[in-house]
Amino acid sequence: MKARDGLYIDGAWRPAAGTDTVAVVNPADEQVIGHVPAASADDVDAAVRAARAALPGWAATPPAERAARLAALRDVLTARKDEIAETVTAELGSPPPLSQAVHAAVPIAVAASYAELAASYPFEERIGNSAVHQEPVGVVGAITPWNYPLHQIVAKVAPALAAGCTVVLKPAEDTPLTAQLFAEAVHEAGVPAGVFNLVTGLGPVAGQALAEHEGVDMVSFTGSTAVGRRIGAIAGAAVKRVALELGGKSANVILPSADLARAVNVGVANVMSNSGQTCSAWTRMLVHSAQYDEAVELAAAAAAKYGERIGPLVNARQRERVRGYIEKGVAEGARLVAGGPDAPRERGYYVRPTVFADVTPGMAIAQEEIFGPVLSILRYEDEDEAVRIANGTVYGLAGAVWAGTEEEAVAFARRLDTGQVDINGGRFNPLAPFGGYKQSGVGRELGPHGLSEYLQTKSLQF
Ligand code: NAD
Repeated sequence: MKARDGLYIDGAWRPAAGTDTVAVVNPADEQVIGHVPAASADDVDAAVRAARAALPGWAATPPAERAARLAALRDVLTARKDEIAETVTAELGSPPPLSQAVHAAVPIAVAASYAELAASYPFEERIGNSAVHQEPVGVVGAITPWNYPLHQIVAKVAPALAAGCTVVLKPAEDTPLTAQLFAEAVHEAGVPAGVFNLVTGLGPVAGQALAEHEGVDMVSFTGSTAVGRRIGAIAGAAVKRVALELGGKSANVILPSADLARAVNVGVANVMSNSGQTCSAWTRMLVHSAQYDEAVELAAAAAAKYGERIGPLVNARQRERVRGYIEKGVAEGARLVAGGPDAPRERGYYVRPTVFADVTPGMAIAQEEIFGPVLSILRYEDEDEAVRIANGTVYGLAGAVWAGTEEEAVAFARRLDTGQVDINGGRFNPLAPFGGYKQSGVGRELGPHGLSEYLQTKSLQF
């Protein structure tokens, strides 16, 4: 994938108004692999105008035809799957098997789900003497992060298009090439000009201009809680719809009746996957005191196995941030049982898979989102304490419960303040709603719940 030097606006690639660019770096070897335009507020304005102009036509397009365009998009993405995986590996640094199995395959599954949902969703229903119509919210400004570059884009753009909205996307500055590939795929799929637009560039410039633009009816943001708060404030002041997918500090609760070895091994894999750059990662493992030492030993051994297989972090800033947390964990008195803050390689933004034992709930490494391959193992004495610890952060995005029976795990899961819980391992479901309780966010993505975020309701009384 070669970097394009334009912005995709109104169905064509056109030069940005200014000459500023963003360098794209391969985090595995620190080489610059391309440059993309850094859009200005004027570019964002042009993109929003194109999206507004296309809105009436796309909103009035029958759902079956919108579904056909999404099916075509699914097919183009499927045909370009290898190229997607290679592009994500180049700009995120993820190992090729992960890029294939997750970074390429998951967004294709999500695009497929919305091709079906667009055709089957009940956009109109009867309630008593009323007809209730679900209509598109309007122009959507989508702002996405780099951790799952294509998934984050598809999880917003596919439901928005299915709903009849038009979109301006501002992807993360670290991973714009995947976004350019997506724009090419949208074009190839025959989506009409202006329905989808791409402006690459910096968050505080292009992202902020998009969130503030009065031609944008809804902002859908995924990223840090700090930026999410600003976006929420901007949207609140303008009374526009907002969806926020923010951070997490999810708990993996292993009850005494669980298969301990399996729960620990799957738990470690969950944290280390994508080098820990997953908002829903189970970064806190909660273990009963009677099984604590055994769990720590298992986790340390499992983490050691990841040593060579783990990819780098996305950039030097993230690596320094994660190393800083590891040093803080040591300073706070947690016991390092795997990994550490030292650099495992000379080149590339690598961090060692790291496990801390003797972590107490008040420590920074038990409260704050680290966004790296760092696991904290905490001890509990009884179920009530496990619930208190699990719920004792500002976040509530995901989590896991392991027990001897599903019933026991589900009973515990009911007590968790979190948007998603995997029971005895669980399995990814592209139709299940994903999103946060508390400061992990507002709204849900994926499946029919994700589609409904992009709709507003009109009732007609007879
Ligand atoms: P970020 O929130 O800064 O960036 C996310 C997106 O928002 C990017 O597209 C960015 O350009 C844009 N943005 C930044 N400032 C903006 C502004 N003022 N107005 C509008 N848009 C703006 O996230 P980051 O710096 O890439 O990562 C920092 C931390 O965020 C991570 O360490 C992690 O804790 C968290 N994070 C969470 C997720 C998630 O999926 N929830 C994803 C990535 C990062």
